[in-house]
Amino acid sequence: MKKNSDICKLTEQYVASTYGRFPIALARGKGTQVWDASGKQYTDFVAGIAVDNLGHCHPAVVSAIRKQAGVLLHVSNLFHIESQSLLAKELTSHSFADKVFFCNSGTEANEAAIKLARRYFFDKGEKKRQEIITMKNSFHGRTLGSLSATGQKKFHEGFAPLLPGFKYIAFNDLAAVKKALSSKTCAVLVEPIQGEGGVNLPDKTYLKELKKLCVKNGSLLIFDEVQTAFGRTGKLFAYENYGAAPDIMTLAKALGAGVAIGAMAATSKVIKSFIPGTHAATFGGNPLACTAALSAFQVYNKPGFLDKTVQTGDYFFSRLQELGEQFPVVKEVRGVGLLLAMELKQPAGVIVEECMRAGYLINCIKQTILRFIPPLIVTKKEINGLIEVLSQSLKKLPTQ
Ligand SMILES: *Cc1c(COP(=O)(O)O)cnc(C)c1O
Repeated sequence: MKKNSDICKLTEQYVASTYGRFPIALARGKGTQVWDASGKQYTDFVAGIAVDNLGHCHPAVVSAIRKQAGVLLHVSNLFHIESQSLLAKELTSHSFADKVFFCNSGTEANEAAIKLARRYFFDKGEKKRQEIITMKNSFHGRTLGSLSATGQKKFHEGFAPLLPGFKYIAFNDLAAVKKALSSKTCAVLVEPIQGEGGVNLPDKTYLKELKKLCVKNGSLLIFDEVQTAFGRTGKLFAYENYGAAPDIMTLAKALGAGVAIGAMAATSKVIKSFIPGTHAATFGGNPLACTAALSAFQVYNKPGFLDKTVQTGDYFFSRLQELGEQFPVVKEVRGVGLLLAMELKQPAGVIVEECMRAGYLINCIKQTILRFIPPLIVTKKEINGLIEVLSQSLKKLPTQ
């Protein structure tokens, strides 16, 4: 196998530089552990950005993929696919939704949601209802529709003209919702908890009240659960924590436990507007991806699996809070389940590097926010190990 530095050079020469990458190549993974090309071992608190919720190479998923690879990889949606219908049955019987459209990523799931919401009102004869309200600091993906929905200017720069018909308001602000809703509002699109935007939690009643406002205004409510679903917040879907179900929900990241698959799930009332010819994806819901997702779903849904996530998350949160009390440079510790963040009063990049040297992979967003999104199977011992390293590196910061 090539060395880390050789692989870095190859990437730099041949791969588009869209990512700021760390100078290591990850070569192998098992559970919460990954190894780079030099054999150095890390405990993974990034989990492919909330994708590897079951850890790396979960035996149930590996075995399902291996078996399916020798049976059927891909066929067109011109035909029925058993694993696709079974996966849709699981997703709907465990959520508010009645039917599912499958695609390959989070951004595509949001594109489908935007198209469906507009088409629904088109079919109802309310052709002026085209506007979609989204939140500042939101993240919905990088293709032009989802990018237009994303309420962060830095992602828009240089890509004008964006898709018209979006209005951005402050997250967790019901007064702003009331002001923005009108007879033109087709839908409100919101992440139950903002992930990329900084692990921002809503007030306990926000989503419930938001739903009421949408119903009153005759608008649809769309939850982008791409980052928050599949146990990340201790529930299968984050909205369950808030007692408010949407009309449409988008999924991806952990859905396939490492295999690319996205989905948009909706009530039958709304999704009936997706008739033949309105939307499609060549790879969407193919046998390999759906078989992987089905095997992952069975693990997520095992009795006690998600409860354990809550316990681990609470423990992790309390350990981070201890650091918060000890170090004045920590501005805030926040999050739910295993979607946790520690915001510093200064750039946090050096902490990420220290952790990496000590064998822990963590992620930094918005310069100052450390985000912790480990596999849900992370242990207290692994958490303690990271806390020790975080403590040492916080101590070393010049301002401490
Ligand atoms: C990651 C993410 C997306 C985009 O998903 P991709 O698979 O990268 O297209 C959309 N919404 C949210 C909330 C996300 O976290």
